Amino acid sequence: MCADCTLEHKGVLFLDELCEFSRQHLEALRQPLEEHSVTVARARAAVTYPADFMLIGASNPCPCGHLGDAQGCTCEPRQLSAYGNKISGPIKDRIDLVVSVPRQEYRDIFAGADEEPSAAVRDRVEAARRRRGEGAGHGNAALTGREILAAARATAPARRLLALSGERLHLSARGFFRVLRVARTISDLAGEDRVGEDALAEALHYRIEMAG
Ligand SMILES: [Zn+2]
Repeated sequence: MCADCTLEHKGVLFLDELCEFSRQHLEALRQPLEEHSVTVARARAAVTYPADFMLIGASNPCPCGHLGDAQGCTCEPRQLSAYGNKISGPIKDRIDLVVSVPRQEYRDIFAGADEEPSAAVRDRVEAARRRRGEGAGHGNAALTGREILAAARATAPARRLLALSGERLHLSARGFFRVLRVARTISDLAGEDRVGEDALAEALHYRIEMAG
């Protein structure tokens, strides 16, 4: 699977049923997620291919798919823990946003869509990128730790919140900078020059969902 991820270079790698992949396959994503390339080693040679993609994964909350809903989960405790542990700490550490999506009610399907259309979301994203003077393909994700510290211009309360939460959540250095990049992006979308407490709290929330 991992060699194939070069096909998604500059695109999106979408893994449906993420927790159904073998741990070995998921671990193989560490190199491309960190280095944006993948090395395929054979007996005579090793070849490195580009693999800079956005990883998106979807997963049920548990093997039977009913954890937390009205129908009720029928999984054994050991099944639940094996399912949750399929994604290792290092892989979790490389995922920026985790969002729980509640089961859709039938009445909502017929209620009509009042969501923001994709074109409007694209306009907001493009406006945020223009404000930051970014060219296509280079976002906050590409900034180094030192660069994101400078670009965030975090307020004093935001810095305090990050320091406190970092200790409580046992954030790695990688996790710390990832939270800051997400908070910078949230602030960009809101048209805010500095990363404040609210943006930082939202960014931390996306990470806490993964820890839970
Ligand atoms: Zn279940």
